Amino acid sequence: MRHNTSSDLFELAKTLMPGGVSSPVRAIKPYPFYTEQAEGSHIRTVDGTELLDCCMAYGPLILGHACPTIRSAIEDQLSRGWLYGTPTPLEPAYAKRITGDHPGMDMVRFVSSGSEATMAAIRLARGFTGKKDIVKIEGGFHGAHDAVLVKAGSGATTMGVPDSAGVLADLVAHTRQVPFNDPDALESLLSAHNDVAALIIEPVMGNIGPILPQDNYLRDIREITKAHDVLLIFDEVITGYRVGIGGAQVKYGVKPDLTTLGKIIGGGLPIGAFGGRREIMEMVAPQGPVYQAGTYSGNPLSLAAGMATIEWLHARPELYRELDDRTRSLEESLGRKAGGSFVRLGSMFKYFFRSSPPQNYRDVKECDTAAFSTFWKKMLDAGIFLPPSQFETNFLSAAHTDRDLTALAQAYTTCR
Ligand SMILES: *Cc1c(COP(=O)(O)O)cnc(C)c1O
Repeated sequence: MRHNTSSDLFELAKTLMPGGVSSPVRAIKPYPFYTEQAEGSHIRTVDGTELLDCCMAYGPLILGHACPTIRSAIEDQLSRGWLYGTPTPLEPAYAKRITGDHPGMDMVRFVSSGSEATMAAIRLARGFTGKKDIVKIEGGFHGAHDAVLVKAGSGATTMGVPDSAGVLADLVAHTRQVPFNDPDALESLLSAHNDVAALIIEPVMGNIGPILPQDNYLRDIREITKAHDVLLIFDEVITGYRVGIGGAQVKYGVKPDLTTLGKIIGGGLPIGAFGGRREIMEMVAPQGPVYQAGTYSGNPLSLAAGMATIEWLHARPELYRELDDRTRSLEESLGRKAGGSFVRLGSMFKYFFRSSPPQNYRDVKECDTAAFSTFWKKMLDAGIFLPPSQFETNFLSAAHTDRDLTALAQAYTTCR
């Protein structure tokens, strides 16, 4: 790869922006490549390198880069203006589609990011139940706001400790954690503490994985939360329309009380949404006392791009089967290798440098991150861009071709 322009840009950026980037994961060492354009399954860097992309902007781009259908939906909206500060016909239309697809969502509120959605869902859970604490899963990621920036691994019954400077210990003391795939830990936590408003969980852990839920785990936590009068929040910001239409709640047949969405539902433009049971959502302002608002909420460009994406998926639901076939054949072509394990769910996949698939955060911490780092660089040299972390999920899109998959399998085989 020729790196010159990228390294120059990064040197400049570092003097102007913390770490040189707009979001931490992008600060690849010694410097990230800068992107000039992208189309389909490929990114072209400012240095003229073509890369096969399996990061896909960390999840939103299920139809690939610059999908023509989405582009024309955006252009059509652009020509009529792109922000009004008034309701648009897109909102009830898209709300109908999203609530129709998700059994756990009778009503929905559109916001501008996944972080905003989980922040509001947590406030709503507290407002609805009148209880103080929340429980999250160790290693679960729900965005970058205070209540969920809690150091993982602090044990089921201890109180949360801040994972970031500037987050008040008093505040995260109300965030408790349990390990994924461990219904007993949740049961004992909820038996010992009766001031819990909600459990927030990625039903498939996408930000340290994918880590898949074991058989009946999601059903068990549904029963446990219900028995303790604790709301169940599925954070489906990644899994929504990724593991299928209706997300994990349809795939696994478990109905949460609240759901958060983002990523795919914006078709590549900024979005978030939260929704749930009608009686809970009726607590949201202006209908109810739980305040939530946003200048860009329901912005027409994101809604147009998102709705075009979801309509595309409804018109061609066989995509999910096709993507699942692709990651399955990738897994088969790789075979087993000592010290590694391949985990996949539909278009989500990851090669872990750990002998067996991780089941929770503690397991994933055992991965050989130095080996991953060497592998990641080799893959980049081979023309494959993977998310630059052992803990981020890889994604395929509708734009990935058979040829891409062959190239990917070959690169995995030689770089592992
Ligand atoms: C990406 C993500 C978020 C945060 O969404 P942003 O749009 O980046 O704020 C929240 N939850 C999960 C599960 C995510 O993957």
